[in-house]
Amino acid sequence: MRIREITLQEVRMKLVDPFETSMDRTDVRRILLVQADVDGVIGWAECVAGETPFYSPETADTAWLILRDFLWPLIKGKEFASASEVWDLLARVRGHNMAKGSLEAAVWDAEAKQKGVPLSKLIGGVRDEIACGVSIGIKESLDELAAAVQKELAAGYQRIKIKIKPGKDLDPVRRLRQDFPRIKLLVDANSAYTLNDWPLLKQLEGFYLMMIEQPLGWDDLYNHVELQKKLDTPICLDECIHTEEHARAAIELGACKIMNIKLGRVGGHTVARRIHDLCQRHGIPVWCGGMLESGIGRAHNIALSTLPNFTLAGDVAASKRYWEEDIILPEVTVSAQGTIRVPTSPGIGFEPRLERIDKLTVRKERLA
Ligand code: MG
Repeated sequence: MRIREITLQEVRMKLVDPFETSMDRTDVRRILLVQADVDGVIGWAECVAGETPFYSPETADTAWLILRDFLWPLIKGKEFASASEVWDLLARVRGHNMAKGSLEAAVWDAEAKQKGVPLSKLIGGVRDEIACGVSIGIKESLDELAAAVQKELAAGYQRIKIKIKPGKDLDPVRRLRQDFPRIKLLVDANSAYTLNDWPLLKQLEGFYLMMIEQPLGWDDLYNHVELQKKLDTPICLDECIHTEEHARAAIELGACKIMNIKLGRVGGHTVARRIHDLCQRHGIPVWCGGMLESGIGRAHNIALSTLPNFTLAGDVAASKRYWEEDIILPEVTVSAQGTIRVPTSPGIGFEPRLERIDKLTVRKERLA
């Protein structure tokens, strides 16, 4: 296989509802789409880097620069046997996993299309449907939050995750447990706390949460080890896990009992699968997190979520929760039971809507 050319394209998409976390508030997404022409077959993927460097150090702008000036020159003209070799070809660049992951995932889509198989099957997936949960941003009032949860439960979603931050933690959780005593509930702090806050996090244990996601520093495994010793509730790590080595350290040290795997954060399907396998061997369940993706990134998340150890419902939800109109056909829909059917057509299994994508595009560059 050889990549003949890649096309970078930035689209702007306005979210149906602004999304607020402890670190940022997003209204309009700047999404970098990557097309890779692999021996004449086009693969698609999405770079999940944000508008700001507040979740991770990468942004849509840094990803564009790294893809154009460093990753493309590394892989241009190289022959390889499978998409699984792309990660190693890009290894000279340190970090920038979201940039790498977008190029890598586009090649996976192309390979699946060349072989005429669904991407989920090519990466080793075993499910024909995946379980879906939702991630709900920080709301102004408790009533607003409870109403948002009610709406998602009515739509069928199997578990609810809410974003928390200091001052918006105990009260929201208490309210939700009053209104919805039996739902599967978790919280995500996006690194908003320090180890000194452990007594407060301990109080959350009274509300039988499934897990507390990324309470402490985004690159701080040590304090998560200390915190997990004090808590019975499992810690789930998100921001801390960028590599297979991070995942191994987190497991061996006892920094978490559950892992959130995001394709972009770990650099694509190859490393995501290695982390998945590692967690499986250690009895650590995983689930797929979301990055406010368009349909293209969502399609990759669906494929990833079919691997056997994705035993917990993830944040992969319907297109319409995010967009008036998505950029793929068909749009991603969720059943009344809170599941998504995994597509059976080749590649990501959803058709990019080229006209709509071009209409939303603010810049485009072909690299050959
Ligand atoms: Mg998270």
